[in-house]
Amino acid sequence: MKEKVNIVWLKRDLRLRDHLPLKLAIEDGVPFLMVYFFEPSVLKDPHYDIRHWRFVWQSLMDLNRQLVKLDSKIHIFHNEIIPAFEKLNEFFDIKKVFSFQETGLKVTYDRDKQFSSFCKKENIQWTEYQQNGIERGRKNRNEWIVRWHDFMERPTDNPDWDKFTPLNLESSLFLEIKGESIPNEFSKLDTNFQEGGESKAWAYMRSFYDGRARNYSKHISKPNLSRKGCSRLSPYIAWGNLSIRQVYQKYELARKSNSYKKPLDNFSSRLRWHCHFIQKFEMEDRMEFKNINSGYDNIKRKFEPQNFLAWKRGQTGFPLVDACMRCLIQTGYINFRMRAMTLSFLTHNLWQDWKEGAVWLASQFLDFEPGIHYPQVQMQAGVTGINTVRIYNPIKQSKDNDEEGLFIKKYIPELKNIPIEFIHEPWLMTAMEQQLYGIEIGKDYPAPIINLKISSKEARDKIWAKRKEPTVKIESLRILKRHTVSQRKV
Ligand SMILES: Cc1cc2nc3c(=O)[nH]c(=O)nc-3n(C[C@H](O)[C@H](O)[C@H](O)COP(=O)(O)OP(=O)(O)OC[C@H]3O[C@@H](n4cnc5c(N)ncnc54)[C@H](O)[C@@H]3O)c2cc1C
Repeated sequence: MKEKVNIVWLKRDLRLRDHLPLKLAIEDGVPFLMVYFFEPSVLKDPHYDIRHWRFVWQSLMDLNRQLVKLDSKIHIFHNEIIPAFEKLNEFFDIKKVFSFQETGLKVTYDRDKQFSSFCKKENIQWTEYQQNGIERGRKNRNEWIVRWHDFMERPTDNPDWDKFTPLNLESSLFLEIKGESIPNEFSKLDTNFQEGGESKAWAYMRSFYDGRARNYSKHISKPNLSRKGCSRLSPYIAWGNLSIRQVYQKYELARKSNSYKKPLDNFSSRLRWHCHFIQKFEMEDRMEFKNINSGYDNIKRKFEPQNFLAWKRGQTGFPLVDACMRCLIQTGYINFRMRAMTLSFLTHNLWQDWKEGAVWLASQFLDFEPGIHYPQVQMQAGVTGINTVRIYNPIKQSKDNDEEGLFIKKYIPELKNIPIEFIHEPWLMTAMEQQLYGIEIGKDYPAPIINLKISSKEARDKIWAKRKEPTVKIESLRILKRHTVSQRKV
């Protein structure tokens, strides 16, 4: 007789607290395995980069360090889930699989559909639980906000680890199933990036509420100061080292004991936005491939590989855009305003489709979260029909938010000797000034690849003309009905 077991499948929920699947698996009483899969099909998806898998690896190591005292561990596979489960099912009688719902890319959605069929065929009960404030199967937003608050106020689902009976795989069986060795790079630390793990996540959260939050509103748009003034919780939330509910409940406590209530309130609205955007993607996941407003489908754009490459590499000749792109490559983070500006530059000034840009940015954002990323990308690209179109002026952003050019100088060493009066527009230097400061524009640092004024005007005219078309208007009404709250029904 095969041993009856349950399985908890960890995905983007790499924590041991506020974890309903773990809590329920313990309460079920049947011994269970905890598993994580580095799936080759997901690893090769272009949205992902080594930086993400390093963060996941660090998170898993952190969990395993915590689990040592319970004589347990997460079993880490480098394999597709179905062949691994087939093997596990030969040795065990798998009764139930517990996991969180994932609002993911098509690659994980398809995998989930296949896994669901597999479970049905093998008579395994797979239950997926609600993650954060995102509800599956919704048709509109009626009462969404009320239910969001209700979810956030409920006690966290902390597993009762005293009742936990560990189950670990025999090493011979594990070796048979685990797949190829985990790539060495996953375990190499790169100190330019935030380090993953539940312990690190709590340390970031504490330091934010205990003081950093004071400057939140003042520094949120500054590329340099936001690195400290914003919470920097995004990768920890995206990979599930923290739940939104944990962060929200700590906000409520911090609000009671701190004098800086306004910045804390500004921060807490972002926690709601987090779920608001993911809910949008949950209800309309074709946004990965298509304009949410199909009225924009026939807008003409020609892919220009040279310009796209210049944008990607931080070689556009616009210092703030370039500093952002280079900083992102090096550290995996830029703040909201800079994300919006770089995307605006690509889609409006360079008039490139948002799709290639979305994939590149996803692979560079350590906090890549499909459900926030795609709706944000489309909003900034001006293809929703329901949001104000914002075409950022990177020179103005530079003067307003990197007044002294410190961020620019940090990430564009070619410009480090340029005085403040030219740092935002180095092409204004005369040949003599360039010689004086030891730089030749067009050789050491590119001249602007586009005329900002003309390209902004052209983009504005085209986007606004489109917005007046009946197809865009009809779609806008549909989007509003589906994704925003009808006031009467709140
Ligand atoms: C084009 C574009 C793409 C983006 N892609 C992502 C992404 O893949 N993953 C991601 O987490 N955020 C994304 N954002 C939103 C936002 O820029 C980041 O959440 C934020 O900069 C993360 O830094 P932080 O944790 O210090 O944020 P804080 O300002 O401290 O906010 C706290 C948390 O609230 C959430 N949040 C903050 N701002 C937003 C927002 N505008 N919309 C939705 N949720 C928000 C995040 O979970 C964040 O960690 C994107 C924004 C743009 C313009």
